[in-house]
Amino acid sequence: TVRVRFAPSPTGMFHVGGARSALQNWIYAKQQGGVLVLRIEDTDAARNRPEWTEGILSALEWIGIDRDAYEGPYFQSSYAAEHRAAAVRLYEAGRAYYCDCTREDVQLRGGSQYSGYDGFCRDRGLGPGEKRALRFRTPDEGATVVVDLIRGEPTFENRLIEDFVIARGDGSPVFLLANVVDDITMEITHVIRAEEHLPNTPKQQLLWDALGVKPPVWAHVPVVVNEKRQKLSKRRDKVALEAYRDEGYLADAMRNYLMLLGWAPSGDREIVPWSVIESEFRLEEVNPSPAFFDEKKLRAFNGEYIRALPVEDFAAACRPWLTGTDTIAPPPWRPEQFDEGVFAAVAPLAQTRIALLSEIVPNVDFLFLDAPLVEEAAWAKAMKEGSAELLDAAVAAFETLPEWTAEATKAALEQVGAERGLKLGKAQAPVRVAVTGRTVGLPLFESLEVLGRDRALTRLRAARV
Ligand code: GLU
Repeated sequence: TVRVRFAPSPTGMFHVGGARSALQNWIYAKQQGGVLVLRIEDTDAARNRPEWTEGILSALEWIGIDRDAYEGPYFQSSYAAEHRAAAVRLYEAGRAYYCDCTREDVQLRGGSQYSGYDGFCRDRGLGPGEKRALRFRTPDEGATVVVDLIRGEPTFENRLIEDFVIARGDGSPVFLLANVVDDITMEITHVIRAEEHLPNTPKQQLLWDALGVKPPVWAHVPVVVNEKRQKLSKRRDKVALEAYRDEGYLADAMRNYLMLLGWAPSGDREIVPWSVIESEFRLEEVNPSPAFFDEKKLRAFNGEYIRALPVEDFAAACRPWLTGTDTIAPPPWRPEQFDEGVFAAVAPLAQTRIALLSEIVPNVDFLFLDAPLVEEAAWAKAMKEGSAELLDAAVAAFETLPEWTAEATKAALEQVGAERGLKLGKAQAPVRVAVTGRTVGLPLFESLEVLGRDRALTRLRAARV
């Protein structure tokens, strides 16, 4: 049976590229009736932290890969004995040798045919000892052909592969070896991972062979790049899945978008139900060239996903931004100022206008705060000559309306504007800023209705002082 694995290192927030690989592994396992293994590669003690592991598990769950979806998690650190045993076996079989060269030694000698280490200690017959690294003896001839579902058969000339280190001077096995030993232990048949690891692959395949196990089928999925075609990096770009979640991207939009990095479903569709992706996705069809992570497009996707929600689900999805959580800042109002009924009344209006769930807050805050949060620039823009007089007239008209409805306030303001030669759009601007503090937002007249006449009039009068 097919066994694939997702093997993140818990060294930081969960990268969107990692999420993409996890989804591809998961779908591939399902399609093949196979098993997805989750392995946390936590051997870099200096950089790992347990909270990053928790973060990975919960981010996976958020995106739909819950704890029943995989075998594990296994932790690489618990397989240290296997890693060491493999190193010993390779040494005893003559496939690896000890080397006491320092980096400086190798540099000074320089000018060898090897692309890295020059093989100085190959035949010195050194035994194990302090500060002696164990190096894998790579073949001098022939080529290592990697079978890659996405890239065909990348071929690497063995003489160009240096005798690489498999265990450090202190005896600890390096990542390349630990990763292979774990894949062998976990009976992995297909390694689906990021393109960044392709240069490691010939070395790793040589290790599989030397350990006497048939190598897996590989699939190196394209590197994810930003708009400048640079590899997404956590120093430069927003890469953490958690950051997208906390801005109010829906998991469904996110995973749909991630699957489009290098692949597309049939027809002209991009936004498709997950079931379609699960049945149509073909790993072999993934385009090997770099995939552009287009945040604008993702945002547009998210808006569509938001609009497609039943309104109750939309309202429920907004909840974390209305209250605040461990990772989402609380809104500007106090909890007791929030009003369920008022929120329910405007939720459908907001749903058609926002692209991120976090945008709910600036759209509704004026309804819950005692006074609106005024954007200085908006105020300056809307309060022009004549605005004061217009606001006075609006107040006078609003005070006497028999009914406080959206239709009634609209008709009244239309009238006030007309008397001053202003279209409704122009007449609306100072009223909107006085009431909501902003120049854009929910439809004004519905907002006035929900806010209530007293509060609306208070704000319009306050704008005059
Ligand atoms: N721990 C490695 C990483 O996060 C995974 C390597 C692999 O998938 O083989 O990049």
